[in-house]
Amino acid sequence: MRDTLVLNASFEPLSTVTLNRAVVLVLQDKAVVEQAHPALRMRGAAVDLPVPRVIRLCRYVRVPFRRQAPWSRRGVLVRDRHRCAYCGRRATTVDHVVPRSLGGADAWLNTVASCAEDNHRKANRTPEQAGMPLLRQPFEPTPADAMLLTLAQDDLESLPGWLSKSAA
Ligand SMILES: [Zn+2]
Repeated sequence: MRDTLVLNASFEPLSTVTLNRAVVLVLQDKAVVEQAHPALRMRGAAVDLPVPRVIRLCRYVRVPFRRQAPWSRRGVLVRDRHRCAYCGRRATTVDHVVPRSLGGADAWLNTVASCAEDNHRKANRTPEQAGMPLLRQPFEPTPADAMLLTLAQDDLESLPGWLSKSAA
């Protein structure tokens, strides 16, 4: 669910992100809340935060115009939210859909997050050969999305568990 709009420091809309990522950006002082949900707050031991609908980055970022987002293993894991493309469990590795040994490239559309077990099981085979269908198709993040991925460096799973939504 991508439900928070991200504005550049110049107020120009950049992209949408999940609520979790929006909160991480605000907690890391990389963004401020511009517009919040009128009735909901995020409450925790050390935090009481409005549920952000629109956030604005504190520092202006230049988004490359019509340039492909650079591929990275880390970017693939964040894009797939650390969920295995084959079983949906927590992923720590990156799998090449078409294996490198068969000419598969290091590219957004050829790589997915994978748990170590499935990565090992699939080995040097395509999903068809391995009988392991993809739960979702890989996609290429836009340059703005990729820029936001690198901004929120932290693993989204590390969002404090005590943070919960509650009515104000
Ligand atoms: Zn798996």
